[in-house]
Parts: sequence; structure tokens; C-alpha cells
Amino acid sequence: MIRFVSLGPGDPELITLKGLRALQQADVIFCPATAIKSLVGGKDSFSSRAAEIVRALGIKEECISLFHVPMSRDREKARRAYDQLAVEVNRARRKRLEAVVVAEGDAGFYSSIHYLFDKLRADRIEVEQIAGVPAFIAAGATAGLHIVKQTERLLVIPGTATAYELISQVKEGQVVVIMKLSACQAAVRTCLATHPEFLYYYFEQVGTKDERRVTDPTQLMSMTFPYFSLLIIRKPEE
Ligand code: SAH
Repeated sequence: MIRFVSLGPGDPELITLKGLRALQQADVIFCPATAIKSLVGGKDSFSSRAAEIVRALGIKEECISLFHVPMSRDREKARRAYDQLAVEVNRARRKRLEAVVVAEGDAGFYSSIHYLFDKLRADRIEVEQIAGVPAFIAAGATAGLHIVKQTERLLVIPGTATAYELISQVKEGQVVVIMKLSACQAAVRTCLATHPEFLYYYFEQVGTKDERRVTDPTQLMSMTFPYFSLLIIRKPEE
């Protein structure tokens, strides 16, 4: 059985007990890592927020195995990386090792690792997905928000939104969560400039020491949103 463990958004305490137990029982834990280009022309190094969470939970270093996920818009590169990872996961399985694959936030929520899950399942390998806290839920909690109430509807958008879509959906009364905010900076700026009366809750690096929250539209207008940021927008109450 290959377990896919959701780690939560960054605060190690936001993993589930079930997820933690799966990590503690694992012989090998595959953690996604991104490359940091060497400025001096040497070898690239790798950084893995997932591995940092796993370490903070007291898991032994020798269980951690990093795999590189290219952060390119060319999904084919990521697909090849996951195909390679499938080979490694299968190798661990054949050695009868308990293998776990981790994902930040929830493993079934905008998580490219799901490609590997689907691939293993298609190959009739037993897989299990363990639920976790998605970043926007943790973000809401840090700000004490009631994200949706009563009959309100929630719309989660992955950064492909246009300004027109954003504005009309918020005006209709939907609460909008924008993930991958760095991919729609211009649309968000237009929304901020034309509708400063909307309520904006911006979150960066939730659950880490670099966590940041901004609600002032003017301040948000001047910012560049990094990859690990999200925005919740709603209409003010009438
Ligand atoms: N599986 C994750 C989502 C991965 S998609 C989840 O369940 O939350 C990546 C996007 O998630 C980022 O672009 C950002 O919008 C959001 N995100 C993930 N972790 C975050 C964090 N700690 N703080 C703010 N946004 C985060």
C-alpha cells in the first residue's frame, strides 16, 4: 500500500493524526523539492518545504527522499518527473518497504502529485490518500474568518481568473478564493483599483515564520504576489 499523506499548509501541527502515524510507520518518505539555481555556476541545490514539515515532526532524516518537481508551465516536464518517481516508488514496494508520498496542504486539492496517485492506481497498485488541511482553510483560521456563512457560496479559482470574472462573481455575492495568485496579478490589481469597497484578505506563507496578512487594498495594489500566496475576496455586508 502506498500512502499519500497530506501535510497541511506549513505549520507541522496541522497534520492529521492519521497522516502523522503513516509518516512514523514509513521506511521511505518521498518529498517534492524545487531547484534553487546556483548563482556562482555550481550545482543547483534543492529546497523542500514538505521535507521541512516532515523533519519538524521528528521523522528521521534517513527516511526522507527528495524528488525534484520542475516548476515549469510545461506540464510535460513535471509528468516525466512523476513517471521517474513511480519507478522509485515501485522499487521501494518490491523491497517491501513502507513507502509514503507527501503533499503540502491537501493531496487532492490542486496537487500535481495526484498524477502519480492516478498512475499507480491505474497500474492496480494499492494506494490511499490521507486528507489534510488546505492552505485557504488554515489561512481563514489564522485571521479568525468565517469563510462562508449561512447560504453563501464559495468559489475557488486557480489564478486563471480575469478581472471581469472576479468582479462579477464577488458582486453576485460569492466568496472567492484565489489560489496561485502570482498567475493573475493584473486581474487582481484591476479588481482592487475599481472595487476598493470589497473586503480583501491576503495571505502569504501561511503557517510558516514568514507568514504575512494584508487587508488594505492600497497596500495590496503595490505588492507583487509570490507563489505561496492566496486571496479571499467578498462583498461587504449590507
Ligand atoms: N494542495 C495545496 C494547494 C497547492 S496549489 C492546498 O491544499 O492548499 C499551490 C497554491 O496553494 C499556491 O499558489 C498558493 O496559492 C496556495 N498555498 C499553498 N500553501 C500556502 C501557504 N502556506 N500560504 C499561502 N498560500 C499557500
